[in-house]
Amino acid sequence: MAAGVETVAEELRAAYGGGKTRDLEWRVSQLKALLKIINLHENEIVEALRSDLNKPEYEAFVHEIAGASSACKLALKELRRWTMPEKVKTTMTTYPSSAHIVSEPLGVVLVISTWNYPFILSIEPIIGAISAGNAVVLKPSEVSPATSAVLSKLLGEYMDTSAVRVVEGSVPETTVLLEQKWDKIFYTGNSKVGRIVLAAAAKHLTPVVLELGGKSPVVVDSNIDLKVAARRIISGKWGCNNGQTCVSPDYVITTKEYASKLVDAFACEMENFYGKDPLQSNDLSSVVNSRHFDRLINLLDDEKVSGKIVLGGQRDKTKLKIAPSIILNPSEDSLIMNEEIFGPLLPIITVDKIEDCIGIITSKEKPLAAYLFSNNEKLKNDFISNVSSGGMVINDTTLHLAEASLPFGGVGESGMGSYHGKFSFDAFSHKKAVLKRGFNGDVSVRYPPYTNGKLNF
Ligand code: NAD
Repeated sequence: MAAGVETVAEELRAAYGGGKTRDLEWRVSQLKALLKIINLHENEIVEALRSDLNKPEYEAFVHEIAGASSACKLALKELRRWTMPEKVKTTMTTYPSSAHIVSEPLGVVLVISTWNYPFILSIEPIIGAISAGNAVVLKPSEVSPATSAVLSKLLGEYMDTSAVRVVEGSVPETTVLLEQKWDKIFYTGNSKVGRIVLAAAAKHLTPVVLELGGKSPVVVDSNIDLKVAARRIISGKWGCNNGQTCVSPDYVITTKEYASKLVDAFACEMENFYGKDPLQSNDLSSVVNSRHFDRLINLLDDEKVSGKIVLGGQRDKTKLKIAPSIILNPSEDSLIMNEEIFGPLLPIITVDKIEDCIGIITSKEKPLAAYLFSNNEKLKNDFISNVSSGGMVINDTTLHLAEASLPFGGVGESGMGSYHGKFSFDAFSHKKAVLKRGFNGDVSVRYPPYTNGKLNF
């Protein structure tokens, strides 16, 4: 373990205590440094993402670099407005008075990130932490070592390391970090480790944001533009890191009679996108490592799935590639219907009536995202009202997370808290209630002795 990991929170607390991170100019300088990293080192970041995930350059740029850059630019543009005290109305109870909500930094915060979007999922929480005036430690994922190394090198070179630090490492390092006292922990990853983080945070009464995953359903009605729907589902599944995305469509629900049309549309568009042999396509990321490859093959080769693969199924372990695969009606108790897939496999389950989808979804843990393709207004309204999920998109997939005006986060098993845009600033701020009064209007009715006359006031 690198020297100083045990004491990093304490060290940064000294910098935070000195007040530098609260200064607006410091925050601006650090956000500008982040932007400089993104602008000057794009190629290095793309290369690291290629090395970790074989991520296509287009996806590396659009999903990670451009996303991080626009989050940073938005924070720079809005920072002064976000930090201004928000005036709120007062009532007769406190008359005469004025009231404000003052956003103050929490202190020293820890960001633990994951491997699937290892750049933006590290940078975007840091943008929130710095904007809000905190000192921050980032622990990137050991599963994406090239990006972890680039983050450590570049943040070390460009940022004020007295208040912004990167600690590389895996479970031992994270465990040592979690023993320390933080003012907020922002964790992205699976829910098993989410529970470890929450338990460690409880010891110090540290608040947490948990950005977790889950099984995000896609419901496909039959009254739609099928070609557009198929393309948008493919784009949100295989076009986002080959299914290794937290909001990736995890399973599809459609009607029995529509299923074969949907499978045909997937087959046709998939061939348009990835050619006849998708294992040869350069537009699909690899599976991140052989552990995850074996996990996915185990889902695919489950006897409860056998004979139900209607598209794909090919694999090449030497290249860590699995072809986009569609499984029609795996049994309810199959592994693939009970674990988050997080890879290029997509089961389709069928129902008699499309309205049955709501009962199926609500019988499971609350997902991070839910998608519906339909032109039926009643179904859309029922879906929005009755399905609880972190976020939702009607007639597309995954795009909600590109809107900085929407909070991004889970609910229940898919997480707690949210970020993106101003929500990132809020995630790392304390909202302090400030009531101001003068010395006029002092009424004796509030003071003892509590006579009957005062009760009747
Ligand atoms: P991972 O293996 O990289 O783990 C995440 C982090 O937890 C890493 O930094 C790792 O070092 C740390 N960690 C692992 N085991 C630990 C332990 N025992 N104690 C302390 N720390 C530990 O990533 P993962 O969990 O495989 O990530 C995939 C999951 O993340 C999926 O469930 C996915 O849906 C979810 N995810 C969520 C979001 C979101 O924004 N909501 C984004 C991406 C991924």
